[in-house]
Amino acid sequence: MSGQTATALRKRPAAATAAQVLSWGRYPKTAHAYVHKPAWNDQVPEILKTAAIGSLLPHGLGRSYGDSCLNAGRELIDCRRLNRILGFDESSGMVRCEAGVSLSDIIDVFLPKGWFLPVTPGTRFVTIGGAIANDVHGKNHHCAGSFGAHVHQIALYRSNDGLALCNERQNSAMLRATIGGLGLTGVIAWADIQLKRVAGPWINAEIVPFESLESFLDLSRESNDRFEYTVAWVDCFAGKNARGIFFRGNHAAECGKAFQRKHGPELPFALPAWMLNRYAVKAFNTAYYRIHAAKKDPAVVPYDSFFYPLDSVGGWNLLYGKQGFLQYQCVIPETNIEAIEQLLDLIARSGMGSFLGVLKQFGSAPPAGMLSFSRPGITIALDFAMRGERTLKLMQSLDDVVRQSGGALYPAKDSRMSPAMFEASFPRWREFVPYIDPKMSSSFWRRVTESQG
Ligand SMILES: Cc1cc2nc3c(=O)[nH]c(=O)nc-3n(C[C@H](O)[C@H](O)[C@H](O)COP(=O)(O)OP(=O)(O)OC[C@H]3O[C@@H](n4cnc5c(N)ncnc54)[C@H](O)[C@@H]3O)c2cc1C
Repeated sequence: MSGQTATALRKRPAAATAAQVLSWGRYPKTAHAYVHKPAWNDQVPEILKTAAIGSLLPHGLGRSYGDSCLNAGRELIDCRRLNRILGFDESSGMVRCEAGVSLSDIIDVFLPKGWFLPVTPGTRFVTIGGAIANDVHGKNHHCAGSFGAHVHQIALYRSNDGLALCNERQNSAMLRATIGGLGLTGVIAWADIQLKRVAGPWINAEIVPFESLESFLDLSRESNDRFEYTVAWVDCFAGKNARGIFFRGNHAAECGKAFQRKHGPELPFALPAWMLNRYAVKAFNTAYYRIHAAKKDPAVVPYDSFFYPLDSVGGWNLLYGKQGFLQYQCVIPETNIEAIEQLLDLIARSGMGSFLGVLKQFGSAPPAGMLSFSRPGITIALDFAMRGERTLKLMQSLDDVVRQSGGALYPAKDSRMSPAMFEASFPRWREFVPYIDPKMSSSFWRRVTESQG
């Protein structure tokens, strides 16, 4: 398949197993690696000591869409068993946990006590290590910034310095490099995260349909002062008209109903690619718009259906068929908003859009990390089933628009951006290089930097 290269495995290290590891988009496919599975943090130094230069990468729940969590032909440290909650201060809401603890674990333990995540992405199946390494953002970016802004302290295993404590007073530059640092600065052993007080598991939610990008922006500006969470779904077949549904909400006090987490169906296998043709997706988008546009009354909804609608279908990434899919997420400065129209127009004309189009206005918080993606502007995220060269060409044409507008692409969602596009997105990336642990590397990092020196 174009865009992929076969990678030979290096020699197998002791106590690691060879496996084909896929990220959430199931593209690229060729990423075999040797996987270490430490059960205790104190096993990590030995893995670091015996590894060759540039051979390792930590790995969480693999919810990154592309190759930033992959290390083709080399080694991964699977951090999922490093998942202990180490301490909690009931009065301040500060939790200390190992990096393999998932956001889902945090919610299950602390929401019943009245505490919630300060920032959450669109899935709860993300580890604390992954949330820090991509400095993830959520629907409250306009008032809470990104996840990294709520990380008070981390302990970081480095192959050359042992366990380094990083906070505002000690190793503060290393903390800023590790937030959004794509797992390249070392292995996060544990982190102190500030949780936020909430009234309960309910959200007061409102839905507002819109029919142009201007009305999306008006809604967003007006809602950002009154609502903690805002995000929009956009119909990517509507072209420049940018019709969509705006979702906004605040945590609610008790609503009188008993809360029960719903478990939805599980997709058992990859669906045949023809099922996701342009007519089916267009029909889905039209129906989705009409059904939601009709629901205008505010409602009290469970937090999980508000934050994590996709988590209700287990393995939904198999919907896109055996070849997998790519997500395209960029941020465009608000002064160049017409670039969003151009992107939507190109996608509508290509006939390759999908049912997942998300728009969000980021706030003005300064980036928490050196390589953080979130910055002031409008972010748009769209899924595309992988259809070979045709899909990659469409994405290159989107890149041209993003680059000309002064925008940037999100590494957590990427599996194909060029070194030039990375340079345009993160012009100061060379300042991050001195913080990289010499034993760390990733498929993504080699792809976007190796030709650039
Ligand atoms: C349905 C869905 C919705 C999403 N919505 C959003 C969203 O709204 N906003 C957003 O920002 N992102 C979103 N994402 C992306 C996701 O939040 C990020 O890719 C996240 O980093 C995945 O975490 P993970 O635990 O799966 O880690 P992985 O994907 O396995 O790894 C991610 C990075 O973390 C590093 N890492 C993992 N553990 C450690 C450790 N112990 N020490 C150091 N580095 C480590 C890895 O090396 C890698 O660079 C979404 C993903 C999905 C599937």
